[in-house]
Amino acid sequence: MVKSGVGAGPGGDLAGAPAPACGGWSRVKGWSEECGVFAAIGVPEAAQIVGLGLHALQHRGQESAGIVSCGEDGAFHSHKGLGLVSEVFTEARLAELPGTLAIGHNRYSTSGSVTLENTQPLRVVYRGGPLALAHNGNLVNAREVREKLEASGSIFQTTLDTEIFLHLMAVSDAETPADGLIQAALQVRGAYALLVLTADAVLALRDAHGIRPLCIGRLGDGYAVASETCALDLVGAEYLRDVEPGELVRFDPRGMQVRRALPAAVPPQHCIFEHIYFSRPDSRVFGEGVDRVRRRIGHRLADEHPAAADLVMAVPDSSNSIALGFSEASGLPFELGLIRNHYVGRTFIQPHQAGRDSSVRIKFNPVAEVVSGQRVVLVDDSIVRGTTSRKLVRLIRRAGAAEVHFRVGSPPVTHPCFYGIDTPSRKELIGVLKSVEEIRDFLGVDSLGYLSLEGLLACERDGRRFCHACFSGQYPVPVNAAAGKLEIENLHRGAARGTQG
Ligand code: AMP
Repeated sequence: MVKSGVGAGPGGDLAGAPAPACGGWSRVKGWSEECGVFAAIGVPEAAQIVGLGLHALQHRGQESAGIVSCGEDGAFHSHKGLGLVSEVFTEARLAELPGTLAIGHNRYSTSGSVTLENTQPLRVVYRGGPLALAHNGNLVNAREVREKLEASGSIFQTTLDTEIFLHLMAVSDAETPADGLIQAALQVRGAYALLVLTADAVLALRDAHGIRPLCIGRLGDGYAVASETCALDLVGAEYLRDVEPGELVRFDPRGMQVRRALPAAVPPQHCIFEHIYFSRPDSRVFGEGVDRVRRRIGHRLADEHPAAADLVMAVPDSSNSIALGFSEASGLPFELGLIRNHYVGRTFIQPHQAGRDSSVRIKFNPVAEVVSGQRVVLVDDSIVRGTTSRKLVRLIRRAGAAEVHFRVGSPPVTHPCFYGIDTPSRKELIGVLKSVEEIRDFLGVDSLGYLSLEGLLACERDGRRFCHACFSGQYPVPVNAAAGKLEIENLHRGAARGTQG
């Protein structure tokens, strides 16, 4: 599935030393990828703070949530469950997690492998002391490493590749958890933003390419660490900086210490899809306000693909900022033409009565008074399979739109993500299967415009710092392109089924 390749791909040379690179397929329905992590250090009722932080990161994962806290006596307390943060954690539950140190995790998955055992943080006894670990990202050499570990006697308790970190730490000759974590990091490849809780500290580690985000905030006399700054905002923490690619930060109630765990990739390879779709627009991610980037995407999209139309509307919520940007640049009014139901739970059973567009209709409904008789620019952040977009267009036409001009804030998705974003195999990507004109026809729109890759990268302050493999196939670290998506998925499934997130 993965080349054990060392060194750099087109996107980023590693400064100096051997590359803790990436590679290998990750995504399949039922394979979790994106997740949210949060830590509170040196603050009273740390678990309550983490609960709030996870709540702010709910968009990064709705499958399960978990928190582990460390009490004054060094004993760990944990609670995990399937579902939303508000379902898993009542106030009473949080009150059962005492202490001034805590970490938490939200897991994302589309289906399958939704088990309590795969819920994070993972909790173990390490060299006589308690230890817990939470991971956002995707290890790509999970199979090889796991097989080696199992051959030498390791017994895994979950199907998460995240667990590999714990086993590698266990077999290391390191004297401290921090050293053990670094030794583990030197043996894995892929994307990870990691939090480790020990009896007296929290460790935060980011992979050498900085693919997934992780930021640090000052919180009273202590600290908070989060996938996105929107979670710092909610708990009242002041953003300090990001954990740098390849950096290990140790937090304890006395302060914060920094170590270089891995040589950082130069330039880093942040996931551009975080800016396009995944992160919240009120977050600062990779040093940039997400809303700002999306506005620029909208401006550029309007320049590249103007439309003779009456109004601009978004596919809410992820495309709102892009559509606003399109409106600013084009002068067309931004209208709320589609309303999204925010209360559609994951377990919602789709009634047959909703008809053939039920999956989309349950989530979105057009405002007939807004779209009727109008030439509409419909802005979405991305088209993956094209099925959602097609149904949305049908709904909008049925509501009376005179014309629909579809504008996409990213290029066609043509390659699956090896590093953690939930994209299907190439044979399901409409950007692979059809030309732009064929996609226009499939969607049933009057015109279709995708933002160019060049245009997208120009919307970033430094486009070289971003991984855009899903649009370009230029994987920043070597991957085994010869292996099909399915083959790689099966390898993953066979060995490290499930995954982190
Ligand atoms: P489709 O083209 O039907 O696969 O769906 C495209 C829609 O899915 C767009 O509105 C995107 O905002 C959204 N989308 C893009 N990437 C993802 C992802 N990784 N997970 C869930 N939804 C996504």
